[in-house]
Amino acid sequence: ATMVELAGVSKRYGPVDALFPVDLAIGKGEFVTLLGPSGSGKSTLLNLIAGMISPTTGKITIDGKDATAMPTNARGLGMVFQNYALMPHMTVFENIAFPLQVRRMSRSEIRERVEKVLDLIQLRHVADRRPKALSGGQQQRISLARCIVYNPALILMDEPLGALDKNLREQMQLEIKRLHAELGITMLYVTHDQDEALTMSDRIVLMNGGRIEQQGRPEQLYFEP
Ligand code: ADP
Ligand code: ADP
Repeated sequence: ATMVELAGVSKRYGPVDALFPVDLAIGKGEFVTLLGPSGSGKSTLLNLIAGMISPTTGKITIDGKDATAMPTNARGLGMVFQNYALMPHMTVFENIAFPLQVRRMSRSEIRERVEKVLDLIQLRHVADRRPKALSGGQQQRISLARCIVYNPALILMDEPLGALDKNLREQMQLEIKRLHAELGITMLYVTHDQDEALTMSDRIVLMNGGRIEQQGRPEQLYFEP
């Protein structure tokens, strides 16, 4: 089954072709990585699927539904960014609970769900702290938890580990893979780090100059030396 389908989707900013028409299908439960240099159109493709921007041409389908007129919050997806975007005046618990409160869930269900994801990321012991008292890696796990807590069918991640040092980045790569395996969520991941893409992905989509250059399983791709 297909979670996301792009048919002839392009994006132009004035005279700049950020993305030439692309066709791309992402299967349910698949971990797909967009890999390419800065300016190759990765974020543009991600933001089109998220509904943050509208395509110049083409059609986007999410879980079988035409997404053209669908606002971001109706697309059933979660997003994780490089700058964790946690709210500094709220505790870890409150940060994770926030998207559930917005959805008007009951207090008891909120508590149950937040505790479950805190266990999943092994950070229950920091529930009452504020984000700035935590390490970068912990903050990134919490922003991941905040995204997972409302059971999105699809998670979009734009260079989520870009701000972390090498050790922490490798630890977090494994953590994200583990969560993907356990939860079966469809993941679309953006990075310019080839090793990261090779480690994490079911399939890599190699982008350059606003085009998909090649795609395939990590072992199928050919990289220029
Ligand atoms: P990335 O990490 O994806 O390379 P950038 O630093 O290129 O991000 O872009 C950051 C933000 O600035 C994005 O929201 C992007 O849409 C916007 N942006 C990038 N290039 C331009 C540009 N030439 N003109 C206006 N906005 C831009
Ligand atoms: P990547 O994520 O691979 O770094 P982007 O999708 O951010 O690439 O950018 C692709 C191209 O589109 C770049 O040339 C960038 O400068 C341009 N671009 C991105 N966002 C904007 C924007 N808001 N306005 C103008 N140009 C943009």
